[in-house]
Amino acid sequence: MGNSFLSKHVSGMPASATMATAAIAAEYVKNQVVHYNWGLGEPDGGMQPHLREAGQRAFAEGKTKYTPPNGILPFREAISEFFSGFGLAYKPGAIIVGNGSKGVLFNIFLATLNPGDEVIVPNPRWVSYEPMIIYVGGKMVTVEPGQDFKITPAALEAAITDKTKWFLFNNPSNPSGAVYTLEEQKALGEVFRQHPDVMILTDEMYWSFNYTDQPFVPFAVANPDLYDRVVTTNGLAKSHAMTGLRIGFAGAPNTPDGQGLVDTANKIQGNIAGNPNTVSQWVTIAAIRGDQSFLNAQRELFIDRRDAMVKGLNAAGLPCGTPDGAFYVMPNVAHLIGGRTPSGVTLVDDVAVTQFFAKEAKVIGVPGSAFGLPETIRFAYPVDRDTNIIPGAWALGEAVRKLENV
Ligand code: GLU
Repeated sequence: MGNSFLSKHVSGMPASATMATAAIAAEYVKNQVVHYNWGLGEPDGGMQPHLREAGQRAFAEGKTKYTPPNGILPFREAISEFFSGFGLAYKPGAIIVGNGSKGVLFNIFLATLNPGDEVIVPNPRWVSYEPMIIYVGGKMVTVEPGQDFKITPAALEAAITDKTKWFLFNNPSNPSGAVYTLEEQKALGEVFRQHPDVMILTDEMYWSFNYTDQPFVPFAVANPDLYDRVVTTNGLAKSHAMTGLRIGFAGAPNTPDGQGLVDTANKIQGNIAGNPNTVSQWVTIAAIRGDQSFLNAQRELFIDRRDAMVKGLNAAGLPCGTPDGAFYVMPNVAHLIGGRTPSGVTLVDDVAVTQFFAKEAKVIGVPGSAFGLPETIRFAYPVDRDTNIIPGAWALGEAVRKLENV
């Protein structure tokens, strides 16, 4: 069958660079090699006891059957409550659900993009946005950030064309950890007032990992007059350590276009996925309606880890600032490119530097080029400070010192 067996449509699709790091870690685990897994980003803690119980109860009560494509009504009611906690009014009928936020975003692109339609995405951006956009025939248009990893309204304005369909806004950002202030979000919103045809699709999955002294504000709340043009994506996978339960959701505006999007996304979901995992729906209800007090302790824990990571990386000779959110840092490694390893290999790019670190220091990261920001590496810090971040950073420093010609 050879090459003709596989679809040309996906032949150019890269493998997920974040998921790929799991294989490196698995190899180290298998061979019992002490290593520091800063690759795939997910909270290390388990689910809260009341969430485990909710899942067990769902199984015990036989809540394991098909549901509507966007889930049972109590699930969508709970999601409406989640959104209203941020000041967002999305009725249960306006909720789109998918297999994680990946499933939601993909269904939305599938539902709305025609060939050649453009999606503006700030760099650095999460690895799977481009493959999804390209797969459905769209085009990703990137906007370069400043030193603070944020884009300016002028740069956004310059990227808009008559083909722009969406502005995809990920805040807090995976991979940079940047968090836009209310004023910055308003300034970006101002751009869209001159471009009434552009819609805004947010990805606010890291809402609870906000280390600023200001509460997290969704884009549609920062810009209430744009509410009718914003689709808000969110979930509890990161906040409530339930990444593998694969529930993501979005709220669509109460407009004919919004309703059309919900109906179309449901149609796609019904044909392709059936429904979101039924047990996971019950766990999500419990997560939304249950105790949230642990989030404060989690935030403090992650601030501590972030600070240790930033300090350790800078001491290792990998300069980085202190991000305001998510759980990633992106140190610059431009100065190491061209360096020669002890085995005589020249590090030609950030991919080579990342591989060198994984091999030499046993620290696993994701090359910045996978996120559209070459000459950097993304390191995730949902790991223990004392037994992982500190020795991992020390190992990186040792590896850097072994490089010649830098
Ligand atoms: N979003 C996480 C990350 O970037 C999980 C992996 C993924 O879904 O790509 O590491």
